[in-house]
Amino acid sequence: MRAMADVLGRDIKYVAGVGEVRARLMEREVGVRTVGDLLMRFPYRYIDRTRLLRIADIDESMESTYVQLRCRVVGKSFIGEGRKQRLVVEVTDPTGCGELLWFQGTKWIDKRVELQREYLVFGRPSIFKGRMSIVHPEIEPIEQALARKVESGFQGIYSTTEKLSSVVSVKAMHTIVLNAWRLVATDATAFSDPLTADMRHRLGLISLREAIYNIHFPQSAELLRQAQYRLKFDELLGVQLTIQARRTSRHNRGGGFIFPRVGEAFNTFFREKLPFALTGAQQRVIKEIRADMVSGQQMNRLLQGDVGSGKTMVAFMSMLLAVDNGYQACIMAPTEILARQHYASMTRFAEGLNVRVAILTGSSKARERRTALEGIASGEVDILIGTHALIEDRVQFSNLGYVVIDEQHRFGVEQRAKLWTKNQQPPHILVMTATPIPRTLAMTLYGDLEVSVIDELPPGRQPIRTYHYFDSMRLKMFGFLRSEIAKGRQVYIVYPLIKESEKMDYKDLYDGYDSITRDFPLPKYRTTVCHGKMKPADKDAAMAQFKRGEADILIATSVIEVGVDVPNATVMVIESAERFGLSQLHQLRGRVGRGGEQSYCILMSGDKLSKEGRARLEAMCATNDGFELSELDLKLRGAGDIHGTQQSGEAFELNIANLATDTQIMQLTRDEALAILASDPALEHPENEGLRHLRDRHHKRERIDFSDIS
Ligand code: ADP
Ligand code: MG
Repeated sequence: MRAMADVLGRDIKYVAGVGEVRARLMEREVGVRTVGDLLMRFPYRYIDRTRLLRIADIDESMESTYVQLRCRVVGKSFIGEGRKQRLVVEVTDPTGCGELLWFQGTKWIDKRVELQREYLVFGRPSIFKGRMSIVHPEIEPIEQALARKVESGFQGIYSTTEKLSSVVSVKAMHTIVLNAWRLVATDATAFSDPLTADMRHRLGLISLREAIYNIHFPQSAELLRQAQYRLKFDELLGVQLTIQARRTSRHNRGGGFIFPRVGEAFNTFFREKLPFALTGAQQRVIKEIRADMVSGQQMNRLLQGDVGSGKTMVAFMSMLLAVDNGYQACIMAPTEILARQHYASMTRFAEGLNVRVAILTGSSKARERRTALEGIASGEVDILIGTHALIEDRVQFSNLGYVVIDEQHRFGVEQRAKLWTKNQQPPHILVMTATPIPRTLAMTLYGDLEVSVIDELPPGRQPIRTYHYFDSMRLKMFGFLRSEIAKGRQVYIVYPLIKESEKMDYKDLYDGYDSITRDFPLPKYRTTVCHGKMKPADKDAAMAQFKRGEADILIATSVIEVGVDVPNATVMVIESAERFGLSQLHQLRGRVGRGGEQSYCILMSGDKLSKEGRARLEAMCATNDGFELSELDLKLRGAGDIHGTQQSGEAFELNIANLATDTQIMQLTRDEALAILASDPALEHPENEGLRHLRDRHHKRERIDFSDIS
């Protein structure tokens, strides 16, 4: 044990090829401080170094991937003056020609590159006007390259940063990792296996040491696959050991409120006041919730339902179940607008039911606040609706039995937890989300939650038609808006707002507003604006005006993203749509198509789109299914792109496993974790010491922040 800590815990500056300066740079740039850190950072892709491409093979699809060429230098020249000077080296092979470019270290390269000599060139090509060029390639005389003994035919590529890559090249990184591995290779205790030989044998897993070696220096394609499998297995097993333990302990805790009665409020509402027939899915989910509420265990349920699937009604009716049994219920919404909207509709639903509804938000005036706080403390108020304000300390419920959280992804886990602790006994909890989460992700994030799904939209809805227009088609878009407004319909125009504080975004919005009011001369079209920086009262006023049909066009930022319900609105125009994520686009689109009329979503974008941006817009046009989009989103964001994964909401900061594609390993580790925990819930047995480390290693990094998911 000590020896292991010694090698893996050693500062990387002692690894051959690193030294003080590079060590500190690596720590700053990619967080690698020790030998262990270094070896636990796996390549994100591999280049087959046995494969040489020809210049004619290089096309645009290879831009920004690494390639390896064998070519002859046929020309060298310096272009430009002083600091802007660059070195251009012309190269050819039997299939074509291209150029290599250096902006730095030009003198040094110039001395080493000889005319008419052949080199092995390694780098990321770009194509301009049909001609290939590579900036700052690695270059080595061909005889030397071919004679060099390599550890593996596959060269791992590690994620890096601009600063780091200018100091530590791909090749240098490879060497450093190899030197680090050599330190470990002589120490049998490092990377001792957390899994028993029995388990490895039963599941066909290679040892951890073999896996670590082959992930960095694959000895064959098959060993690389096995190494990846093994490391993913360990990672997901750690995750599952955590969440399954949590689930078991919640179940064992028991002590959930029991709501045995289906009482007067629920029945009266159901028989006399329900404004429409419930869909089959709504009925099923209400039954599932009801079953939990009589089980004697605390409910912790996630309700996934696409936008417009009618989650609010499920929330309301299940709250009546609590109220009928003498308990209070509350619903927490992510925005003021949404809380107000719930308040308006639930007050209406509750009329004549002898159920008292109150609201509390950050901007509640003194009287409203007092009514809510006093009523909730005395037990006079049955249903409290609000925003984050509900988790303030001074909100004291008299007997809170049920908590609904709307649009979960906007809340952090700590905020959730705070509501829980308002009681001695934890209330039942229903978490609702309209951002469907792929099943694999749900299993990880919500492994300790039961899941309900509303997979059916209320009848009579027509699928929304979605189109993608480039900015150059703006006039066509305006023409379309005119014709819809002429039919008496209403229109949303949404501008991106990445951060609520970014002034730039408001400039976009107001520029947009100006041009719209120019194109749609006022008296004729009534336009209103709504964004997050406005005072809540002004926001409400603008929304209310639109809702009452007193404005034809609502110009907004994504504050209207969630929940807002205006059935007469039939067109959603999203400006700079390429700047939104898929789930956000889908949410925004869900603002229309809520009535019986055909609705439309128009995605406006600039002419230049990234590959991913284009894929997102195409997906939006191809499907209305939120689940399908969320799977795709995970794939797009989880794929290869190093920076992308940081925002992909992978709550467990997975290092190698991919929630979108590793479903099978996820299932397997789940079953294994359950079996292990059944005989040793706290992993106290000596033979499970390794598993405990796996669990805790992951545990330390756990950082669930649902606001990351959206
Ligand atoms: P979401 O699941 O996105 O929160 P809402 O609860 O806001 O959806 O419901 C969307 C719209 O559908 C609302 O106008 C609501 O009144 C209506 N609705 C809900 N359930 C039904 C139903 N069973 N039949 C008809 N309309 C319904
Ligand atoms: Mg909703």
